[in-house]
Amino acid sequence: MGLFAKAKRIAASDPRPNGEWSSPWGNWAHQHRGLVIGLTDDANDTAAAQHNPAISGKESMAKSTDEGFVKFTNVQKSYDGKVLVVKDLNMSIARGEFLTMLGPSGSGKTTCLMMVAGFETATSGSITLGGQPINHIPPHKRGIGMVFQNYALFPHMTVAENLAFPLQVRGMSKPQQKERVKAALDMVQMGEFGNRRPAQLSGGQQQRIALARALVFEPEVVLMDEPLGALDKQLREHMQFEIKHLHERLGVTVVYVTHDQTEALTMSDNVAVFNDGVVQQLAAPDHLYEKPENSFVAQFIGENNSLAGKITKAVGGNVEVTLADGSVVNAIAVNASQPGEDTLISIRPERVLTDVSLLPSEATHVEAEVVEFIYMGDIFRTRLNVAGDSNFVVKSRNTPGQERLQIGQKLTIGWHREDCRALDMPPS
Ligand code: ADP
Ligand code: MG
Repeated sequence: MGLFAKAKRIAASDPRPNGEWSSPWGNWAHQHRGLVIGLTDDANDTAAAQHNPAISGKESMAKSTDEGFVKFTNVQKSYDGKVLVVKDLNMSIARGEFLTMLGPSGSGKTTCLMMVAGFETATSGSITLGGQPINHIPPHKRGIGMVFQNYALFPHMTVAENLAFPLQVRGMSKPQQKERVKAALDMVQMGEFGNRRPAQLSGGQQQRIALARALVFEPEVVLMDEPLGALDKQLREHMQFEIKHLHERLGVTVVYVTHDQTEALTMSDNVAVFNDGVVQQLAAPDHLYEKPENSFVAQFIGENNSLAGKITKAVGGNVEVTLADGSVVNAIAVNASQPGEDTLISIRPERVLTDVSLLPSEATHVEAEVVEFIYMGDIFRTRLNVAGDSNFVVKSRNTPGQERLQIGQKLTIGWHREDCRALDMPPS
């Protein structure tokens, strides 16, 4: 039995890796096998796919599509014809970009990725790849590499055979295959492991092989769905840098899904924050962290202090907010700006100063009482009661002479107005 036929048989008998892959994909194994390695059933199909400008026609692709290389226009998705799990998604991913879809479980990230991959079709709207609509192109012909949390390696093949598989069905000559496989293995520092089987590798090693296999045929787009979710913290952090550096070296377009905000900030050029099927904000990591546009993003990305209040004055782009205990703070009007409106003000823990002599007189000053002090080595994390809220956190670096606050201590804290943002009060 040839390699291809054997792999087909194995894939067809593969148990579905986890619940997420259950019911909707009747011919899951067939599609999955195709998608994982971006191959087609026969060389003609492959040739056709390779000649499809949506997949590989580099020359025929207009320059303008570089900006919107993967593009969602008014995309909606409903599985049951009632509830929209993706609501009017508009998003452009540039060629070579590393875009992360970040959001809580159930927010629609995987659904969006599956629509690009072709496992799911959009209920309405269009998705284009290199300017060409992909609705009518089946998954296995999209020339997209894919990496899953569960690796999805072929268990009965060696590592080298797993990697050679997509090349073999593309009709690549044996010596060329060998060269590519070696390069791909070296790329993920697994050069010595070609003869092992997946079961003889650790989780981290298997994920590296899955990564190499997704990249070995040089796809233009690689989709990754929580690829590091099964790894322990240390390895996960290590792999984050590896994937990031690989992306920088190869310049391949990556669409990455995670629910881990640190991972998203570390790895991405841009992050789309999903909640309830809607992109809440799409921006570069620093912009997202420092300039959240609504309360959901402020809370979801990084640690955030939010205090409830009412806008009592609005001047230009700024507002004066009165907190529960009557104290008054200044903030930038972001998506709450009308006098009388309820708001949540948002301020990052590291932007709060406990030494207000460092602040100009027009900055915000409020009274606080220390509830908890935690020594974390590089930083001190102090929890305060501010305006009746005892979850207000201040982070200060453990620099020479940095004061350690005492529980019960009363003090005045403060911050620059531009670090404080007046955001929507979410419905309770
Ligand atoms: P995420 O990847 O952000 O966790 P998903 O895209 O998997 O979110 O799911 C979005 C919503 O769609 C959830 O409410 C989920 O239950 C639902 N959903 C996902 N896949 C299916 C499916 N095949 N059939 C029905 N509902 C689904
Ligand atoms: Mg998911």
